[in-house]
Amino acid sequence: MIHQILDKIYKIELPIPFPLATMNVYFIDDSPRTLVDVGIKTQASLETLKKGLETIGYGLNSIEQILITHGHIDHYGLAKSLSSLSGAPIYIHPTEYGRIRSIIHSLGFIKSILLRNGAPEALVNEAIRYMESAQIMADPLDEAFFLNDGDSILFKSMAWKTILCPGHSPGMLCFYWPEKKILFTGDHLLKKITPNPVLTVNGSKPPFRYPSLKEYLTSLEKIEKMDISLLLPAHG
Ligand SMILES: [Zn+2]
Ligand SMILES: [Zn+2]
Repeated sequence: MIHQILDKIYKIELPIPFPLATMNVYFIDDSPRTLVDVGIKTQASLETLKKGLETIGYGLNSIEQILITHGHIDHYGLAKSLSSLSGAPIYIHPTEYGRIRSIIHSLGFIKSILLRNGAPEALVNEAIRYMESAQIMADPLDEAFFLNDGDSILFKSMAWKTILCPGHSPGMLCFYWPEKKILFTGDHLLKKITPNPVLTVNGSKPPFRYPSLKEYLTSLEKIEKMDISLLLPAHG
């Protein structure tokens, strides 16, 4: 399903096999033609994206730039396939790039943190198995370009700025269009729910654990001070 939000901005709702059921990617019909997040790597998601773009006269190979808000599979899963198909470069925060590449190696840490905090072993094993199996719904990234806090993203007729909002994920980027006061929030702000403070392994010394909730609250304060008229979230 595709909805026009503004003159050059379209929202495409893609199916995901999680309780949230859908995620939103945003297609920017400017130069370069850009996709903000890409959806999970399933046939259903790819087909829906393709149909959405066809409705406005484009194909998957029309995409010229891919911006990823953060490294969760529903947000970057299709990035590599779309990039090989269209030649579009992928942009992401370096922390998220590193997380994606090391996710399988971090499962042991996650398991030990859960067990140490009293989670039942059978449940922990099930969760870890699930996280392992979910990786088939995303291709790890190879070549990508890095975006940091405060970077400019220039289009022919607009200029955006990246806003680093760590919390749900340590390198979560929101994209701000000051002229229209629009913020693409990824999973930082959602319509009806708050995002999970996801257990993330971080750093090279103990406790190896990223303080998700504390960071999330700080990032909320950052957003609260901004001049925003429209939030465009990745779910809802
Ligand atoms: Zn997420
Ligand atoms: Zn998400």
